[in-house]
Amino acid sequence: MRTTFTTGTNHLFIPGPTNVPEDVRMAMNVAMQDQRGPSFGALTLGILADLKRVFRTETGQVMLFPGSGTGAWEAAITNTLNPGDKVLMARHGQFSTLWAEMAVRLGLEVEVIDVAWGAGVPVSEFARHLAADRKGQIKAVFVTQNETATGVTSDVAAVRKALDDAFHEALLFVDGVSSVASVDFRMDAWGVDLAVTGSQKGLMCPAGLGVLAVSQKALKVSETATMRRAYFEFRDFKMTCETGYFPYTPPTQILHGMRRALDRIHAEGLDNVIARHARLAEGVRRGVAAWGLQICAEHPSLVSNTVTAIRVPEGIDAREVIRIGYERYNTSFGSGLARLAGKVFRIGHLGDLNEGMCLTALAVAEMALVEAGADVKLGSGVAAAQAWYVKAAAEAVPLAAE
Ligand SMILES: *Cc1c(COP(=O)(O)O)cnc(C)c1O
Repeated sequence: MRTTFTTGTNHLFIPGPTNVPEDVRMAMNVAMQDQRGPSFGALTLGILADLKRVFRTETGQVMLFPGSGTGAWEAAITNTLNPGDKVLMARHGQFSTLWAEMAVRLGLEVEVIDVAWGAGVPVSEFARHLAADRKGQIKAVFVTQNETATGVTSDVAAVRKALDDAFHEALLFVDGVSSVASVDFRMDAWGVDLAVTGSQKGLMCPAGLGVLAVSQKALKVSETATMRRAYFEFRDFKMTCETGYFPYTPPTQILHGMRRALDRIHAEGLDNVIARHARLAEGVRRGVAAWGLQICAEHPSLVSNTVTAIRVPEGIDAREVIRIGYERYNTSFGSGLARLAGKVFRIGHLGDLNEGMCLTALAVAEMALVEAGADVKLGSGVAAAQAWYVKAAAEAVPLAAE
């Protein structure tokens, strides 16, 4: 049993909040400051400019709203759509399900396509709906790039292509909460109109900021969109984009943390960050395969490089695996959400981490699985991952930092 006393570090392998690097935490340890003081605007403006690089946009505008990714979803919807507008969405996991639910609550007419939890965004179904929509009633298409509940990454570029092939004008919304700054995301190249993330995943900061990247097209639409909004008003943020001063009190500490986190991303190089996530994730997947267990993602082309959802064998309760990991080994794994409760546990592998940390996740998971009654060979997953990491280290050609 876990006592009130624990030693060592708590190993955090949930897909957000992620590990905050030591120097980012230290950078936040600053005295409260005057958010209207002379030097504050430059801090914000630097962050907005550098976040544009992370979203890979030159023409888009980044906005920061105190809140989390969910708040950014709401900001994206309320600023650009009208009550009763039709939108096209897919449900293939808990996050896409919640986003669709929010769209309904906000009064949109949601055309929802349900696919298996483990499948990706159904691009050909989307294409069919878009082609059939001759009157252009669909105002926006929503894509959850990385479904964090199932560990599935979908093809945003393919959805862009489906829109273009249908000569469709709908806005393209992307939930990038667990993908931006960790897996490839290209706002401009993919013609994304609204991309949202939060501060506590790939950006390696505490939760507290919802981050949006807004295309010029979406900005234009926002001028006439009639859905009710107040706090999350793009127009109010416009001044912030120009001056760096917020219309209300921003979380100044998180902004200092964000400054340092962006410096880290640029020092490593965004391409290297993305390559590292791919390398680390592959080791975790090889470990899972060596256990003889399945992952949630239905096809190798869909696997997520930020989170792996692992199906436990029949008769084993994934909640037990998670409980043992936490209580006995001071290690946190992500739980199975909604219909996946008890069936999967998740290893979050995004943000600030390295090979040794992933091996710890696998080592603890093996012990917890065995203790929960699973027929898994101790050391098998760790060995498979080690073999991959050794090979990858020998072959890795680091790309130049930015
Ligand atoms: C974490 C997450 C969210 C929710 O973000 P919050 O910051 O918790 O509000 C939304 N979508 C995805 C894909 C996520 O991973």
